[in-house]
Amino acid sequence: MNLVAVGTVAFDSIETPFAKKDKVIGGAATYITLSASHFVKNSGLVSVVGDDFPTEMLETMKSKGIDQEGLQIKKGEKSFFWSGKYHYDLNSRDTLITDLNVLADFDPILPEAYQECDFLMLGNLAPAVQMRVIDQIRVRPRLVVMDTMNFWMNIAWDDLMKVIAKVDVLTINDEEARQMANEYSLVKAAKKILALGPKYLIIKKGEHGALLFDQHNVFFAPALPLEEVVDPTGAGDTFAGGFIGYLAQSQNISFENMKRAVIIGSAMASFTCEKFGPDRLLELTREEINERIEQFVQLTDFEIYVEE
Ligand code: AMP
Repeated sequence: MNLVAVGTVAFDSIETPFAKKDKVIGGAATYITLSASHFVKNSGLVSVVGDDFPTEMLETMKSKGIDQEGLQIKKGEKSFFWSGKYHYDLNSRDTLITDLNVLADFDPILPEAYQECDFLMLGNLAPAVQMRVIDQIRVRPRLVVMDTMNFWMNIAWDDLMKVIAKVDVLTINDEEARQMANEYSLVKAAKKILALGPKYLIIKKGEHGALLFDQHNVFFAPALPLEEVVDPTGAGDTFAGGFIGYLAQSQNISFENMKRAVIIGSAMASFTCEKFGPDRLLELTREEINERIEQFVQLTDFEIYVEE
């Protein structure tokens, strides 16, 4: 197993200024694994659902090479549920409900077959659960990428700091980076966050793209200006899945290749915004992905000449 992803598999209720949809399939690990499945043939999923989660969706995920030996299905219990409402810019949102349900006492078990993974994605989840996974791994993967959100910063700060100290790449959004570092400037925030342990930091800025930092370099990837954004839920996780999926496929974790991975992640995230839930990721073709990557290249390609 080249790639293992840990995170929520969930139901979401989403409200945008233009539409509302209840009980959409969501969850960080759902978006991560589906996005990565376009780059890696096999991945392992570590998560938990109740028996209310549709088996057809799990079967569809299996058909995309997403192994579910690490997925626990709890009889008589309810899956994680999240509800959010987007502001007019579709870039910021308020969480209305977070019902942990099965997640409340989730104890992840890493199957033997996942032990030797080279790439580990710790999707947005309780930091203590993310740590339980790290603790079970006998041989450190080549790259550990972690995502988190303000919810965990607010209720599990100390646990979060312990996990952050152990990962290679942290991905968060701009608002969360400012909150984590207590710093308005994202450049200063990045320095402070890198000092907490990760070698690389990705700050996602929604429709304004993403920044990749290490100690010495910074790279900026735009987001594709979409004519219509239907639902941005899962864009961050789709980004992470594309990012780590591409790195796992190319087996190259240099900063130069991470730049490409950030573009891939941004391209994949742009698809997720086009429909509610992960539907777009399920139907995507290789041609569409290649076309979109080319659009990213065109978007920032220019020649410049300054006369003396
Ligand atoms: P994103 O839009 O990429 O930030 O991710 C949205 C997804 O994250 C939704 O499908 C939710 O089910 C999931 N989610 C929301 N809140 C949490 C949380 N506190 N922990 C884990 N997953 C969450």
